[in-house]
Amino acid sequence: MARVYNFSAGPSMLPESVLKKAAAEMLDYEGSGQSVMEMSHRSKTYDKIIKDAEALLREIMNIPDNYKVLFLQGGGSTQFAMVALNLMNKNHKADYIVTGQWAKKALQEAQRYGDAVAVASSADKTFTYIPKTDKSMFREDADYVYICLNNTIYGTVYHELPDTGDIPLVADISSCIVSEPLDVSKFGLLFAGAQKNMSGAGVTIVIIREDLIGNAMDITPTMLNYKTHADANSLYNTPPCYAIYVAKLVLEWIKNEVGGLENMKARNEKKAKLLYDFLDSSEMFKGTVVPEDRSLMNVPFVTGDKDLDAKFVKESTEAGLVNLKGHRTVGGMRASIYNAMPYEGVVALVDFMKKFEAENK
Ligand SMILES: *Cc1c(COP(=O)(O)O)cnc(C)c1O
Repeated sequence: MARVYNFSAGPSMLPESVLKKAAAEMLDYEGSGQSVMEMSHRSKTYDKIIKDAEALLREIMNIPDNYKVLFLQGGGSTQFAMVALNLMNKNHKADYIVTGQWAKKALQEAQRYGDAVAVASSADKTFTYIPKTDKSMFREDADYVYICLNNTIYGTVYHELPDTGDIPLVADISSCIVSEPLDVSKFGLLFAGAQKNMSGAGVTIVIIREDLIGNAMDITPTMLNYKTHADANSLYNTPPCYAIYVAKLVLEWIKNEVGGLENMKARNEKKAKLLYDFLDSSEMFKGTVVPEDRSLMNVPFVTGDKDLDAKFVKESTEAGLVNLKGHRTVGGMRASIYNAMPYEGVVALVDFMKKFEAENK
C-alpha cells in the first residue's frame, strides 16, 4: 500500500526512516531480545534510550545547563494546569496573551488557581494575527507571562517574542518544537506535546529553568509537581517509554539526516513558501492569516464557498492528500506541514490545488 501525504494537525507524519528503524527494532531492540515497549523503564538498556533522547534534545536545541528537560505524560493540555500550579506561586498573578483556543484553554485553567488575566487577544479577528504587546502591558508583579508560540488551529506564529523584562516567559511550543532554532534562554519554561513534530502521542516535553522548580502550590498533586520529575530524571514513575524512544529516533534524524535546526528551518521555509506563494497568486484559494504572522507549520486556507471547500476536501482525500479539512472554528482547509512532511508532499498539494481551481472555475 502506498503511503499518503498526511496533512493532519496532530498526530501527524513521522519521517519514513524513523518508522522503518522502529519497525526493524520492534522485536529485538539492539540484541536485548525484546521490544522497547516491553522493556523495564529501570533497565540499563532503557536508561540509555532516555538519556540519549535528552542529550540529543539538549544538543539540537542548544539548551543551557541551567534548564531541566522533563519527559512527562498528560499531553500539552495537562501543562495548562501544571504551569499555573508550579509557577503562579509568588504573587498569584499571571498574564496571558490569547492568540487562539490553546492559549484560551490555558488561561481558563490558570484562572482556577489564581489571578490570571488576558492582557492581549486577537479574538476580535478570529485569531488571524498576533497582537502587538509592549512591556507596559504586563503587570510588574505577574509571576509569568504566557504565550502559545505557534497557533496550530489558526496558523499564526510569533516572529518576535514579547518583551516581558524580568518576568519569566512561558511558551506552549507543541506545534513548532524543533522546527527551527529557538533561543531557550529567553524563556522560563517551554512545553510541547510531542505528537506534532517529535514523536507519537504520549510524551510531553518540558524545558524549565531550574530556579522555577520547587515552589509549587501546596495543593499541587505530586505527579503535577515539576520537582517530582526533575528530582527523578523523569523516572519517578513509568514514563511513556515508547514515545520517548520514537522521539530519540526523530532527534537522530534531525541531527544526522537533516543536519540540525538551521537546515530544518530552511526545509520548512521552502515548503511553506511554495504553498503561501500559490495562495497569494490563486483566484480561488486564500490564506486566512495576515502575511506577517504566518506559521511555517500550519496553513489554513479557504475558497470562500462552503460547498467548494467540502468538494476540495473530498477530492483531495481521494488523491492521497489526507486530513486537509480545516478546524471546525475556522472552516475551510488547513495544511499542517510539520518537519516530517516532505517537500514532494507540498508540491503534490499545490499541483492538486491548481488542477482543482482550473476544473472548478
Ligand atoms: C495540540 C496542541 C495542544 C494540546 O495537546 P494535547 O497533547 O492533545 O493535550 C496544546 N497546545 C498546542 C499549541 C497544540 O497544538
